[in-house]
Amino acid sequence: MRVTYTDICRRFTECGIENAGGEARILIEEICGEFSSEKDYLCDQLLFAVEKRCTHYPLQYIIGKWWFCRCEFEVNEDCLIPRPDTEIAVEVAQKLMPQNARFADLCTGSGCIAISLLDLRPDTSAVAVELFPKTLELAKRNAERNNVADRFVGVLGDVLSGNVLGDEIFDVIVSNPPYIRSDVVPTLSKEVGFEPLAALDGGEDGMIFYRRIVEAYLENVSYDGCFIFEIGYDQAEDIKAVADNSSLKCEIIKDFGGNDRIAVLRR
Ligand code: GLN
Repeated sequence: MRVTYTDICRRFTECGIENAGGEARILIEEICGEFSSEKDYLCDQLLFAVEKRCTHYPLQYIIGKWWFCRCEFEVNEDCLIPRPDTEIAVEVAQKLMPQNARFADLCTGSGCIAISLLDLRPDTSAVAVELFPKTLELAKRNAERNNVADRFVGVLGDVLSGNVLGDEIFDVIVSNPPYIRSDVVPTLSKEVGFEPLAALDGGEDGMIFYRRIVEAYLENVSYDGCFIFEIGYDQAEDIKAVADNSSLKCEIIKDFGGNDRIAVLRR
């Protein structure tokens, strides 16, 4: 069966895919290696991908990659899909890190934060911690893919139990941990339902990771260093309370949509 860009747009719109045109274009480009809005594509793989997307399976997992900051990342069901708002965490860290900084990225997932920072700041080096072996392997492949593997150390570990960083001191500890309240997780979009639950669920109040990270890893932050966290749009007050508890100052930075999104905690 032949299919055109317009056919795919129509099919996506029928299925309630929001950015039908943009997604149709990406699928054609990635699967057929070129894009034309007029051409008839005779390609079973394309048809299969369109139907898969119509089940609301994420486009990013279908094409197996996604773009974030200046890098391209391999993505699959073992990792959260890198999101534009997370680029702000990278931007903030990029500005705050001193020359030759060493930083840690906790709950690294695809590695998008650590790897983008290493790419933007060739003077820095990173330790990236991840709980799941397959996800850590993915992050390591992404470091290779973006030519920063020589400055990227992947550590397998559970940031919630004990201290996986030992006694090493970092200029910055950055993290986009799971922060969705458990009761909110089931209400998210169908697409998000295909992403790893462990990367989303931040416990009853969504704050488990922040509390534990600040408690367990403050000693790993240099005296004038900081934590840089991505937070939920409604978690600014909660993260301020976490900061208060450890006598830290807390600065909140907004995302592209004007929502509170990044918290910087420092002594
Ligand atoms: N650090 C990764 C990201 O920003 C993964 C985050 C997560 O799994 N909660 O996409």
